[in-house]
Amino acid sequence: MLQQFYPQVPHNYTFELNKDMHLAAAHYIDDDRAGDCRNMHGHTYFINVTIAGDNLDELGFLVDFKRLKSIIHKRYDHTLLNNHQEFNGRPPTTEEVARQIGLAVQAELDTLENKPVCLQVLVRETPTSYVVYRPKQGGAS
Ligand SMILES: [Zn+2]
Repeated sequence: MLQQFYPQVPHNYTFELNKDMHLAAAHYIDDDRAGDCRNMHGHTYFINVTIAGDNLDELGFLVDFKRLKSIIHKRYDHTLLNNHQEFNGRPPTTEEVARQIGLAVQAELDTLENKPVCLQVLVRETPTSYVVYRPKQGGAS
């Protein structure tokens, strides 16, 4: 499956975890310059998140896969992305979707004692288009 090939993130962490998921969502880009994308339409988004760290929790997890899925899939699946508050004044382009997923994932990881980090979020919007978001480590995005 094509979606299984992802750009690699160079890092020195001991553990790297990748979670794939896909979800169906609608969006529109409310600007004439967006052309046809101004009309509401839907995509099946393929998402891959890359998490890394040196320490595992007491169960032996870097982060529970289910936890990642619930942050992203539960929030966005079968929704209109424009309705989410994080896209208020920020159009839900593939780039912004990737960034918002990265921020939400990192916020969740920050609550864990073993302190994993989100190194990369890949969002594929169509079979021929995807965006990679790599948060600057140690800085805001
Ligand atoms: Zn679109």
